[in-house]
Amino acid sequence: MSTGSRVLELDQAQVLDQLPVGLVTIDSDLRYTYANMEAERFAGMPRNEFVGRVIYEVFPALRGGPLEEAFTHTMTTREVSRFTLPFAPHDTWYELVAHPAADGGIVVFFHDSKRRVLQEAEVAALREQRDSTRRLYETALANTPDFVYVWGRDHKFRYANQALLDLYGVTAEECIGHGFREVGYPEWHALMHEREIDEVVRTGKPLRGTIPFYGKGGGGIYDYIFVPVFGPDGEVEAVAGTTRDVTELDRANQALKDTDRRKDEFLATLAHELRNPLAPMRSGLDLLGMENDENTRQRTVAMMERQLGQMVHLVDDLLDLSRVSRGVIELRPEPTSVNAMVELALETSRPLIERYGHTLVLELPKDDPPLLGDRTRLAQVFSNLLNNAAKYTEPGGRIALKAERKSEEVIVSVTDSGIGIEQHELGRVFDMFTRLSRGGTDTRGGLGIGLHIVKRLVEMHGGRIEVASEGALRGSTFSVTLPITAAKDQVGPMRPTTGVAKSHRILIVDDNVDAAFTLSVMLKNKGHQVHATYGGQEALDIAGTFRPEFIFMDIGMPGLDGYEACKRLRAMPALRDTRIVALTGWGQEKDRQLAREAGFNDHLVKPVPLSVIEATLMHAGS
Ligand code: ADP
Repeated sequence: MSTGSRVLELDQAQVLDQLPVGLVTIDSDLRYTYANMEAERFAGMPRNEFVGRVIYEVFPALRGGPLEEAFTHTMTTREVSRFTLPFAPHDTWYELVAHPAADGGIVVFFHDSKRRVLQEAEVAALREQRDSTRRLYETALANTPDFVYVWGRDHKFRYANQALLDLYGVTAEECIGHGFREVGYPEWHALMHEREIDEVVRTGKPLRGTIPFYGKGGGGIYDYIFVPVFGPDGEVEAVAGTTRDVTELDRANQALKDTDRRKDEFLATLAHELRNPLAPMRSGLDLLGMENDENTRQRTVAMMERQLGQMVHLVDDLLDLSRVSRGVIELRPEPTSVNAMVELALETSRPLIERYGHTLVLELPKDDPPLLGDRTRLAQVFSNLLNNAAKYTEPGGRIALKAERKSEEVIVSVTDSGIGIEQHELGRVFDMFTRLSRGGTDTRGGLGIGLHIVKRLVEMHGGRIEVASEGALRGSTFSVTLPITAAKDQVGPMRPTTGVAKSHRILIVDDNVDAAFTLSVMLKNKGHQVHATYGGQEALDIAGTFRPEFIFMDIGMPGLDGYEACKRLRAMPALRDTRIVALTGWGQEKDRQLAREAGFNDHLVKPVPLSVIEATLMHAGS
């Protein structure tokens, strides 16, 4: 028995030494009581050197560490503990299992787990890296308005970003692993993309396209690019792509092209329109040079005035257009009324209406609704509409101007029996540079900017304008709706200035010699005593002795400009009662303000008709 038992003991020790794990027994005083061969190898010293010694005498690093704590824990609780610990002296990790032993101590199995720990750490790091990359891409892809997707060679979705899912109103589950038709693509669209995927797989080359399409979440014009995703063997294993909504871009592009085309047309028309009055003026001048018959001369001058008026009108429109588009038109609102405004507009338009032999019918409300607005600009609106009605109606037509009150608004409409406007063109008439095509023979002229300006002016007055027509040759109606203001102190229509012409001493200051010369000749012809000078300093030199009652002075001049000259003239006691009038190309409120500050009494915008100059002379003289 005893032999048998000894054999067994011997066998046991041999068996334990064969174990591929380290095994030590430790008693309740934390002394090693046994170590197998593998443990000896781990310890790096013969076992008789450490068996019998306290663990941290052998390995000082263990004192107070987690290993000692774990051993003590198993001894006291009698529970098995498992743990993996780094062990700095061996530069490794040990995986340990501590079992309670019968003598109150413990049996500890351990093995070097450095490789496994490292592998696990590597896997965890890789996983984290993958997750973080995925989070990154997911966030980027889910938040782009572009559609991003990947298809397998089998045409099935392998990925679709949120924007695409939203467009088709499907969840990721309903999309991934499914084909186009299941996601909701129409048949033609599915077929097209399937063919394209096959092409990318076959050629290994990217492919681009543009397509109009509509899903549940909306649609438009889309630009897309499909690219091959190559597998490790160099074969295309999937096709990835992005699609961008270019509807807005497309629209903006189209609009730009349209504007550009219309601008070109406009420039051609402008050149043509400016040339038109020039030819008769040129021949008028020749005629004046050779003609002595007073009657013919007067008719020629009248004709030239008309043509010049036409040019001034064109240039005024152009200036207005540029101000309107830059939003710098300034309104000078004052209390007025519908009738006053219509009266003013008719002053301008009646000659044209009469020239075409149209019948004009007026229907105005008796109570004359009050308006608050820039009278000149409002009159411009209606004279423009009336002129158009006259122009775009065959001679002998009918034009009706009707104003009607509707609660707090007044609707003023101009209806003609003219050439009308096709239904599909109605929307365009207020666009800049729009001239509706009437075939090549239309000689009505026009730059296609009037209605654009009209619309902006109406809107600036808090109103709106609409157009209606039953179609070609069925006439047109333009209706302007304006808010009525409860202005109490109405200003009546402007009274023409009256007075008896008398002779004045007038000084003209303008660096444009021709302009100064013509004005001085005209005023001399009217019996005034006139002196023309061509610069600010010259004016100062002469003013003291000439003592003009009126000075008409240009603002922009080299050397001493109009503002500075005016300030100095104002300082001369001899000119205390002189009226100084600015003649300038700049008519905005800030220009008027500057002129006032410099000491000008009046501010006239060029070109100034003689009648206005005369009115200024009379107004001041009376
Ligand atoms: P235009 O100087 O060419 O008259 P507008 O801006 O005033 O420019 O008008 C734009 C276009 O609208 C015109 O060229 C014309 O084709 C059309 N139009 C304007 N008024 C009328 C109208 N009363 N009847 C028919 N067509 C009109």
